[in-house]
Amino acid sequence: MKYFLAIIGGGPAGYTAAEKASKAGKDVVLFEQSSLGGTCLNVGCIPTKSLLYGAKQYYNATHAQKYGVTAENVAFDFAAMQKRKTIVVRKLVAGIKQRLNNEHCTVVSGVAYPRPLPKGKGEGFIISCNEAEYEAENLMICTGSTNFVPPIPGIKDNPAVWDSTDALAATELPKSIIIVGGGVIGMEFATLYHELGVPVTVIEAMPTILPNLDPDVVQILLDKYRKAGINILTGTKVEEAYPQPLPEGKGVRIRATSPDGELILEAERVLVSVGRRANLMGLEALNELEMERGAIKVDEFCKTNLPNVYACGDVTGKIMLAHVASRQAEVAVGRMLKQIPLQRIAYNAIPSVVYTNPEIASVGITEKQAAEMSIPVEVTKLPMTFSGRFMAENEGETGLCKVITDAKNHSILGVHLIGNPCSEFIAAASFAVRMGYTTAEFQQVVFPHPTVSEILHEAI
Ligand code: NAD
Repeated sequence: MKYFLAIIGGGPAGYTAAEKASKAGKDVVLFEQSSLGGTCLNVGCIPTKSLLYGAKQYYNATHAQKYGVTAENVAFDFAAMQKRKTIVVRKLVAGIKQRLNNEHCTVVSGVAYPRPLPKGKGEGFIISCNEAEYEAENLMICTGSTNFVPPIPGIKDNPAVWDSTDALAATELPKSIIIVGGGVIGMEFATLYHELGVPVTVIEAMPTILPNLDPDVVQILLDKYRKAGINILTGTKVEEAYPQPLPEGKGVRIRATSPDGELILEAERVLVSVGRRANLMGLEALNELEMERGAIKVDEFCKTNLPNVYACGDVTGKIMLAHVASRQAEVAVGRMLKQIPLQRIAYNAIPSVVYTNPEIASVGITEKQAAEMSIPVEVTKLPMTFSGRFMAENEGETGLCKVITDAKNHSILGVHLIGNPCSEFIAAASFAVRMGYTTAEFQQVVFPHPTVSEILHEAI
């Protein structure tokens, strides 16, 4: 049998493509070497959010006095949190299996090795997997990304040094931790460990943590976390790591250089979260595939330079987010099926969330990016405390809503938020940026009262 589409990788890009193409009546084969759901579901978004929610429950219970509530003997069971996380993941993986359970979709478990059909045999691909061969008209590469291991002496193969996958699998909390990289993964794990009482040090090479986000928003988080006791070292470079016997057992010693000179830091564990890289394993036979900065180069429909070969998700190195991957897959399958009107991805309106406490959510351009693009903008900043619901539920907390609008036509170009639960209403701002709404158009939208989302209505 010749499949219409062979998909390599069953993460958000792969399973979305498989579902969409098979539901359109096309025969699809999807190869997954591990578990359906990819990084996001198995070792990324979902397990971290499950653990973070447990940590937040504990943190709130132990910090409830400001709301007139005192709880005694509050305790947590990390193994139980981990168990619950595993159950959540298992149920969601089962849900994906269910979504792909139709007569047009075949899921094959194993590592897939695609190659073009030999010259003269027409267009298409042969995919080898588990000593079987499959033929397909179109190929979609959704192989995702893997944790990047920086070339720092003493990091690789050091059992006390974790990546995010190791940290998620650990059944016991570390007694202390140094997190190398103050990006999204680093700050989410810093939140988890801090809320569960683990002493945390974050080492970030750039002058600020979360360097791609709006600096006003990041400063609020930085101030809160430093005040709470998280040791955040910015502009600091890790030079070397080596095993160091600590009084309570094995640990790691880090040598780093900061603007103030050399630092020696010790902890039971080190978590390295300095970015991820495209996973190109198994693609050796597609040696004419054009690459860009270590990832597969694609056009606006996720087509590669090779005929009938598409790539979606982290492997394209665009924006490494699950919701970008699934949208890329929708667009690519639409293109493959020649659906009219053809859709494109609006990369200018991709929301992103950092699950710190408070949460950060943003969409569109920052003030800095506007300046780099020479776009004259107006900037509105409003403290979250302008929202009645925020005041009622966030005692002693600060937050910010920052809106970037085009100075000429007043369209909404960017929205940057910090304050709980901004992850739940950034979609409203995404809608405005995506549709190119002006402030006057946005003002016609009625927001329910009292909700924290009203801050958008106040600021825009
Ligand atoms: P990242 O790019 O977000 O952050 C890496 C950080 O490490 C950067 O701030 C960088 O300056 C710093 N860094 C690099 N080398 C360093 C060094 N040697 N010493 C100290 N600091 C160093 O990468 P990440 O946090 O590893 O996340 C990987 C990807 O996963 C990202 O694309 C991210 O968006 C995605 N992700 C998203 C979410 C979410 O949406 N909530 C959660 C987790 C991960």
